[in-house]
Amino acid sequence: MNVPMLDLTEQYQTLKEEIFTAMDDVMSSSRFILGDNVKKLEADVANYSNVKHGIGVASGSDALLLSLHAAGIGENDEVITTAFTFFATVGAIARLKAKPVFVDIDPISYNIDANKIEEVITSKTKAIIPVHLYGQAAEMDKIRAIADKHNLVVIEDAAQAIGATYDGKKVGELGDTTCYSFFPTKNLGAYGDGGMIVTNSDDLAEKLRVLRVHGSKPKYYHHVLGYNSRLDELQAAVLNVKFKHLDSWSLKRREKASVYTELLQNELGDNVITPKELEKRYHVFHQYTIRTNNRSELQTFLQEHGVASMVYYPKPLHVQPVFTEYGYKEGDLPETDKAANEVISLPMFPELKEDQQIYVVEKIKQFYTK
Ligand SMILES: *Cc1c(COP(=O)(O)O)cnc(C)c1O
Repeated sequence: MNVPMLDLTEQYQTLKEEIFTAMDDVMSSSRFILGDNVKKLEADVANYSNVKHGIGVASGSDALLLSLHAAGIGENDEVITTAFTFFATVGAIARLKAKPVFVDIDPISYNIDANKIEEVITSKTKAIIPVHLYGQAAEMDKIRAIADKHNLVVIEDAAQAIGATYDGKKVGELGDTTCYSFFPTKNLGAYGDGGMIVTNSDDLAEKLRVLRVHGSKPKYYHHVLGYNSRLDELQAAVLNVKFKHLDSWSLKRREKASVYTELLQNELGDNVITPKELEKRYHVFHQYTIRTNNRSELQTFLQEHGVASMVYYPKPLHVQPVFTEYGYKEGDLPETDKAANEVISLPMFPELKEDQQIYVVEKIKQFYTK
């Protein structure tokens, strides 16, 4: 049997006609940039996140970059975040010449350890970027309280967590801005790059709408140096079709996660630690990520038996060569370093079949008992 990490073909077959029609409408209208499809998706995603504004941009990476820019972050500013994330989180900070300040993760959720944030706040700290890794929200009540106390901006990196909640509140409700990615492999994926920022702030929304069109307002008059960063109509048309299914897909991901956890529980002892949904969280399982003590051998064994797996992320950002100037070294963030050596994500998507999951777990068990 072959079990891929992610297979989008079945989803496409069920939505094909609707997507063809939606794309044809865009092409027939010949309106490709900032038209009705983008407007509709912005309104729907903002509403879904229980905030007022949605601003479609070219990618999740740009959502982070424009959010930091709109919040006025730049040279000599410090931004607190996690090193256990995708490159883009920290790339955006560095791109604006601000300095990333890393806080270690909580080893259970893999998210920034909110109890360690205050220790690193200085007079230069301007913002916190919590990342809701693998689809589970970071500890947003503590993070919001710390930010309010020290007058910091909170930018949520929710690229992996659209639809997740914290204490009944949607990801997106507690940040000043929240960044979504519509990269094809994300829980709500386009057929190319795309992203969105949601915010309750009229002021930030206005700034972001100007920034994404080269800082142009009124048209062809530029007071700020902006970007060319728009979500395009074709992608928005696809996303409008897919968005209606997002909640049912999240439910299916949660079901698959329960099946894995149940199947993995016996016999494996400490060899495999299954993911935990923390209190007050609704986890949307962008990834189903386990911890193991023999990862690379396990990964090779699974591969030999047709089971795909991925490591998110093998080299945390504080030790990436491009970021040496910030002065971190291995050992500075012990829980981050440990997780980077132990985590492995198993195949996860809404259409994953139970017999595939049984096979995956059977192979894991075989590896540890052979
Ligand atoms: C995917 C991702 C991004 C970047 O999104 P793109 O749309 O690929 O630019 C940022 N942060 C995290 C945590 C991500 O997983």
